[in-house]
Amino acid sequence: MNIEEQIKRLREELHEHNYRYYVLDAAVISDYDFDMKLKELQALEEAHPEFLDETSPTMRVGGTVTKNFNTLVHEQRMYSLDNSYSKEELLEWEQRIKRNLGDATVSYTCELKYDGASISLSYENGQLVRALTRGDGFQGDEVTANVKTIRSVPLHLRGDFPPRFDIRGEIILPLEGFEKMNEERIKNGDDPYMNPRNTASGSLKLQDSALVAERPLDCLLYALVGRDLPSKTHYELLEKARGWGFKIPREAQLCHSIKEVLAFLEHWDVHRHQLPYETDGVVIKVNDLQQQEELGYTAKSPRWAIAYKFKTEQASSVLEKITYQVGRTGAITPVANLQPVLLAGTTVKRASLHNADQIAKLDIREGDTVFVEKGGEIIPKIVGVDLTQRPAESTPTIYITHCPECGTLLQREEGEAQHFCPNTGGCPPQITGRIQHFISRKAMDIDGLGAETVELLFKEGLIENYADLYTLTKEQILPLERMAEKSAENLVQGIADSVKIPFERVLFGLGIRFVGETVAKTLVKAYKNIDALMAATSEELMEVNEIGQRIAESVVSFFQEDQNREIMEQLKRYGLQFSLTEEQLQNQTDLLKGKTLVVSGVFENLERTELKKLIEDNGGKVSSSISSKTSYLVAGNNMGPSKRSKAETLGVPIISESDFLDLIK
Ligand code: AMP
Ligand code: ZN
Repeated sequence: MNIEEQIKRLREELHEHNYRYYVLDAAVISDYDFDMKLKELQALEEAHPEFLDETSPTMRVGGTVTKNFNTLVHEQRMYSLDNSYSKEELLEWEQRIKRNLGDATVSYTCELKYDGASISLSYENGQLVRALTRGDGFQGDEVTANVKTIRSVPLHLRGDFPPRFDIRGEIILPLEGFEKMNEERIKNGDDPYMNPRNTASGSLKLQDSALVAERPLDCLLYALVGRDLPSKTHYELLEKARGWGFKIPREAQLCHSIKEVLAFLEHWDVHRHQLPYETDGVVIKVNDLQQQEELGYTAKSPRWAIAYKFKTEQASSVLEKITYQVGRTGAITPVANLQPVLLAGTTVKRASLHNADQIAKLDIREGDTVFVEKGGEIIPKIVGVDLTQRPAESTPTIYITHCPECGTLLQREEGEAQHFCPNTGGCPPQITGRIQHFISRKAMDIDGLGAETVELLFKEGLIENYADLYTLTKEQILPLERMAEKSAENLVQGIADSVKIPFERVLFGLGIRFVGETVAKTLVKAYKNIDALMAATSEELMEVNEIGQRIAESVVSFFQEDQNREIMEQLKRYGLQFSLTEEQLQNQTDLLKGKTLVVSGVFENLERTELKKLIEDNGGKVSSSISSKTSYLVAGNNMGPSKRSKAETLGVPIISESDFLDLIK
């Protein structure tokens, strides 16, 4: 046998053992024998780099170092899920579905909700080629090297798989592995990790994949996306994918009625504590893909699926002190500092108290014994007071009247729950918070500059706003604490490089209240450059799709402030991107302005996402449900019959893919 064949055979053998051990949980060789074979393969590969294979089992041990993770667009958006918290809500969802489907028979697939980090894996010709995090749902970070180290992720598929598809799932840290990791950390004098979910998602972003390989991560899959999938139902697809080597939990169950769904919920509400991983609920999905297609999506989530959340766990503890935090927008958040208490597997020391009303409503006082609950969020919340434990000398909480950081009298606007420190320009945590937001990954993503450095720069009087960053020199920052020649250079370079960041991210980075990533994108599309945006009145802004009064007024008042106008001028001078690029502008037209289109079915030439992008680039709006406001229904093959009849009843024109392309010619 020649070397190449020998390498090939070893790889196949190790892939197989790996699959048996990590996916089937039924090993046929000892760990020792496995390690020996792996070492043998490693040695051969090192001696013969010409036979390199990116999907060799040796890739599992990691070793690649990624400095910056590439951001890539998801071919199909990764949605989130609507939640329901009671059987009633679930039944209402079922009613809605039935109504939308004209009372057709509906089956459901029930799966547990795996609590980790979502991931999308792309396979081409049976090989793992890419792994992307969910990110904002439209684009995520490429973490392929790290994901390859997860033993239950198949690098090669078996059986009869489609040539190209994505599969989605959750990277989780099973409880046992998590606890072992924490024991190890405590032994080494490190702080234990807070919870498995955050640790799982943190692991994906480690720069050194060898470190990821050491973590006992697992990958549970729950959805296939792509063209020409080999089945018409979700459940069957899961079964097929299991056959190709994916880890699809056996708990998934096909239910033929909502009654069976309820039985599934009841069973797992009790038995979930015996699972090897954490789950906070069940995901219920309409099983028939045609029906899914007919039901479509809301702005955030599929209409054909819903998560059912189990009742959360509670603990009680003594509230020692209420402290107040000031955010970058000046919002004050009261925080409960508790006597440490174990809750749902983690130690809780702090809980959010939300706002003054919440404290008054529950009559929460220092010294009280309070009930703490943990939902999906990281910070637990206080849901009530145990009045039987209230100390005799207790007095009601008096909410602060002045900013704990700068002493300014707090304000509270009509209809708002939060108190604000109005000293925008002079309140330290607001100043640094804004700069920290500006440099954050999703905004200007400035390398070499962290939150602490921002605070230091501010304390030393070197910066007062984000525009000041661009005047910093190496000589100025070198004398700072813990600042070496190299890091000072990197910092200055990182700031200089950030002038290339596209307009939409700059706009997001400015930190205008209510202007998040999505709104920033929308505004950039509508106004194309900063001058046009700054000149817009709130009435004009509100004509833009998805821009409401609250956002419009916030934008206008931001640009009305002299200080902000001054900063914009400076940023322009420093060369930041304040308009769409030529290339972006070229692809944009107003041909579909004011039109709302619904896309349904499978198309000959374009992927659905491409089609939707074309609609948006040409000024149109994509909607997933047909109403009298729909301008066109773009119909492909296999379109749902109920969509067609609805369009016909409402007199919505139904056009083909080529009709559509003519529209935007
Ligand atoms: P949320 O982030 O709360 O909106 O919940 C949506 C997320 O639940 C998805 O992005 C998935 O990562 C996750 N999830 C966990 N288990 C499942 C499942 N069985 N099916 C679909 N999504 C799931
Ligand atoms: Zn203040």
